[in-house]
Amino acid sequence: MSNFVFGLTATRLPIMAYRFGSEGPPVLVLGGVHGDEIEGIVAAHGLLEKFTASFPWRLRLTLVPIFNLDGALARERRNARGVDLNRNLPTKDWTADVAEPRYSPGDAPNSEPENLALTAHIESERPSFILSLHSWKPTLNINGDCRAIAESIARRTGYAITGSIGYPTPGCLGTYAGLERGLPTLTYEIERGLAHEPILDVHVPAILEGLKTCEARGR
Ligand SMILES: [Zn+2]
Repeated sequence: MSNFVFGLTATRLPIMAYRFGSEGPPVLVLGGVHGDEIEGIVAAHGLLEKFTASFPWRLRLTLVPIFNLDGALARERRNARGVDLNRNLPTKDWTADVAEPRYSPGDAPNSEPENLALTAHIESERPSFILSLHSWKPTLNINGDCRAIAESIARRTGYAITGSIGYPTPGCLGTYAGLERGLPTLTYEIERGLAHEPILDVHVPAILEGLKTCEARGR
């Protein structure tokens, strides 16, 4: 395992990333894109513990446990500049129009330092699979070709697999990577409010099953 600074937050805190595995397709796992969705941050740390103990997969995995660190420290969805990082990515459907302040997309696409780091990473690594850990209603939202991975996770969790979250999400990661760049992206919505224990005992093993499927498809 090696670690590196993935980028800096709007308040110039380092966003830490951990790298596991030295061969095989690149994979990116993000926790805490929304700082108040701590269930995803808990799951990411459960993965960090498992991967540190053993990483048997032929994958080159980058794990960013708390992507929106400023938001997480404030228990706030958005970053320190009040921008929803999952509405700010430079997609064809990015819009400055916003129905509610909590979805604020920023002044321009990719205006936020966190997303500049994320898009630079995605453009240089071209991950064959991206997993973003959120919390909301239990859902596995797939954009691009990752249904088999989602099915592995669904077998453990019983979560529904959907191609759309049910409302418009302009400037989101699923559109940026999954739909517009052909880099399959799974937005994993863990049940909001779930305690640490079931996250570590059910969802972390489910994600490990998903990675096994990801490795088996070998690209
Ligand atoms: Zn979220």
